Amino acid sequence: MNIDQNKVVELSFKLFLNDFNGELIQEFDKDEPFKFIFGTGYLLEGFENKIKGLSKGDKFKFKLQVDEAYGEVDEEAIIDFPHSMFNIDKEYIYVGSILPFKDEEGNDMEGTIVEISDDAVTVDFNHPLAGEDLYFEGEVLNVRNATPEELKHGHVH
Ligand code: ZN
Repeated sequence: MNIDQNKVVELSFKLFLNDFNGELIQEFDKDEPFKFIFGTGYLLEGFENKIKGLSKGDKFKFKLQVDEAYGEVDEEAIIDFPHSMFNIDKEYIYVGSILPFKDEEGNDMEGTIVEISDDAVTVDFNHPLAGEDLYFEGEVLNVRNATPEELKHGHVH
């Protein structure tokens, strides 16, 4: 069976930055594979395009350029806030802390504190992997049809 729309796909893979010998930032092994329903918008489209048509036992190794991955870093998504806006426990205010925010429409989003000065807390709302080329290497462990219930729920059971 080949990877295609509405198939449940199980993968083991490693994700590296810079090159295939670069920094390992994510790993799913055979004991705890990554599972998803293909074509439901859960994964990067660029990633899905690269593995479409593969079947169980196939190995893959590919690079996603910045524009196929999480895009360039948007400087306008790095914002200074006054300390007074953070009405939370001070222990959560440190460089590298990831905090929940709401945008103007009330949607949940995450921001990472990247700098703290006397008069501002600087928060980066870019995806943590923005600006990066991504290097994936892995194997297709299983491909099967999603059940009607899985399709309804939009996730793998
Ligand atoms: Zn469910």
